[in-house]
Amino acid sequence: MADSTETQDDALARRGLMFILSSPSGAGKTTISRMLLDADPAIKLSVSVTTRPPRPGEKDGVHYYFVDDAEFDRMVEEDDFYEWAHVFGHRYGTPKGRIRNALKEGQDFLFDIDWQGTQQLYQKDQQDVVRVFILPPSIAELENRLRGRGTDSDEVIAARMERARSEISHWDAYDYVVINEDAGECFAKVREILDAERMKRQRQTGLIPFVRQLMS
Ligand code: 5GP
Repeated sequence: MADSTETQDDALARRGLMFILSSPSGAGKTTISRMLLDADPAIKLSVSVTTRPPRPGEKDGVHYYFVDDAEFDRMVEEDDFYEWAHVFGHRYGTPKGRIRNALKEGQDFLFDIDWQGTQQLYQKDQQDVVRVFILPPSIAELENRLRGRGTDSDEVIAARMERARSEISHWDAYDYVVINEDAGECFAKVREILDAERMKRQRQTGLIPFVRQLMS
C-alpha cells in the first residue's frame, strides 16, 4: 500500500499519540499490529516486558522483553512501568523508556495491551491515548483461530477462551470498536482511525503559528 504523500498538514508539528489495540487473543490483533507497523514508519511499537516464556519465533527486544520474576519485581520497585498487569498467570508491563519525551516530539506509539493496561494508561494520559478494540466475528471463529495457532495445549486454549469472554466484556471502555471479519479490511479501518486521530486539532500543536501566518 502506498504511503500518503506528505502535505502541508502532515508537516505541521503535532503531539504523538498512544494508539492502543486490544482484543481477546485470537481476534487478530497481532496481525493487525504487524500490518500497521509495516505500512506506517511513523508509528513505533511499545515493546512490553513480560515474565511469560517466549513462544517459538519470538525474539527478546522485538516482541517482548522477556524477564524473570525477580527482574520484573525490581522494575516495579524502581517505578519503571507506565502500567502493568497480571494476564494468564504472568505479568506484563509497559516500560516508560523514552515514551513521554518522544510523544512531545510527535512520535506515535502502538500498544498491544489488555483492558487493564488500557485503563491505567488512559487514567495517566487521556489526551494522548486512542483506544481501539478488535472483536472477532464469532466465538466459533475465535476458537478456530486459537487452535490454528497450534502452540498451546487444550487446557491453555480453554483458559484463553474463558479469558476471551471476559476480555470482550470490556469492549465499551474503548473509543473505537472494529470487527475483524477480514484482516485486510480490519487493517484499513484501523489505519483510518489512526489517520483521523492524527488530524485532531488539539494534537496539531503547529496549527497556531500556521494559522497566524495564514492570517497575517
Ligand atoms: P500474549 O501472551 O498472547 O502475547 O499476550 C497476552 C495478553 O497480554 C494480550 O491481551 C496482550 O495484549 C496483553 N499484554 C501484552 N503486553 C502487555 C502490557 O505491557 N501490559 C498489559 N496490561 N497487557 C499486556
